[in-house]
Amino acid sequence: MLQSSEIREIRKDFPFLELSTKEKPLVYLDSAATTQKPRQVIEAMNRYYSYENGGPHRGAHRLSMAATEVYEGAREAVKNFIGANSVEEIVFTRNATEGLNLLAYCWGLENLKEGDEIVLSIMEHHANLVTWQYVAEKTGAKLVYLYIDENKEIPKKEIEEKITAKTKLLAITQSSNVLGTMPDVKTMIAYLRKVSPDAKAVVDGAQAAPHMPVDVKDLDCDFYVFSGHKMLAAMGAGVLYGKLDNLNAMKPYMYGGDMIEYVYEDHSTFLKAPGRFEAGTQDVGAASSLPVAIDYLNAIGLDKIHEYESYLVDYAYDAMSQMDDITILSRPTNPRGGLITFNFKDVHPHDVASILDSKGIAIRSGHHCAQPLHRSFGIHFSCRASFAVYNTIEEVDYFIKNLDEVRRLMG
Ligand code: PLP
Repeated sequence: MLQSSEIREIRKDFPFLELSTKEKPLVYLDSAATTQKPRQVIEAMNRYYSYENGGPHRGAHRLSMAATEVYEGAREAVKNFIGANSVEEIVFTRNATEGLNLLAYCWGLENLKEGDEIVLSIMEHHANLVTWQYVAEKTGAKLVYLYIDENKEIPKKEIEEKITAKTKLLAITQSSNVLGTMPDVKTMIAYLRKVSPDAKAVVDGAQAAPHMPVDVKDLDCDFYVFSGHKMLAAMGAGVLYGKLDNLNAMKPYMYGGDMIEYVYEDHSTFLKAPGRFEAGTQDVGAASSLPVAIDYLNAIGLDKIHEYESYLVDYAYDAMSQMDDITILSRPTNPRGGLITFNFKDVHPHDVASILDSKGIAIRSGHHCAQPLHRSFGIHFSCRASFAVYNTIEEVDYFIKNLDEVRRLMG
């Protein structure tokens, strides 16, 4: 496992930690919302805007070519990161949400109809839920939810009862942003292929790609989305992976420059993927951060990152499960994502987060864009502490000790 000396070295790369002093600490436990950025990522963006900035794909001049190289280099890095077959399968979006909306508009609205079923889990982030609600409303397709058991897992029976020949889309998270549950999406997709061979499988990798090795070919998913900003890269650097045949069978998402082949007065023809989905000048600055973030994660090793984050969660879980006034919502056992979600008896999550903030601890409070999941537990809000490779066991300890401060002030 990663040693504390290695974590100390990693922490030197993160400028935000300079904000943390003895008098006023900063313990950042909100990486599931967005991760902090290492110096290397910030420098890559600085380099891009200082020396490589130009309109990509358009010009014959040096800076345009430099920008094109940066942008297409990022695509190559992402392709290797998730094990795609080719760079054509990698579409840049702003974030996971935009990738899912692209699929809803360009695949869902075009291919689903009354009688079809969209299977999704009750733990989906709104990005992978509200989108499909919209498609269901417009097409007459039906939403079918997979529910979870007391272990916060989707039981096999639930999968076998709900995924049927009527299923035309499976939209499933690879790691829940509230529960840390990591459904076995590979097995679910294999089952889907068996009972409904023409159905598509969309995997929401927003909380998985930053924390564990991902291989889209091994998963055999049709589409996979994630957000660079949750994996040390910049905001605005999102990714949609799609099997090439799927992408090329879809209509464009937005129309305009950079996505066309020929434009006549009365109609146009469009580039093949990924160009057809990337209308207008793209965010090359954000994309420039991706290869560096990927190199950074790979140099540490995603397996090691997952192992280390699990160690932090195990530690927090063991301590917090001894506390009578705390209910833990997230998954009780491994494997689980790097977070713990909980509620204090009789204390509103917002108060918990504010009191912890007064001690320099940043956690998340609210519904975490998962209202149906919260409602299924009979609650509306919760607190979430989420971890990344730059967190230390001492920080987790400090967080746990300061839960006493919540008791002292609110008890
Ligand atoms: N899916 C999951 C599981 C998430 O946790 C999030 C963000 O928290 C998203 C999708 C949406 O990500 P973004 O806001 O970057 O589009």
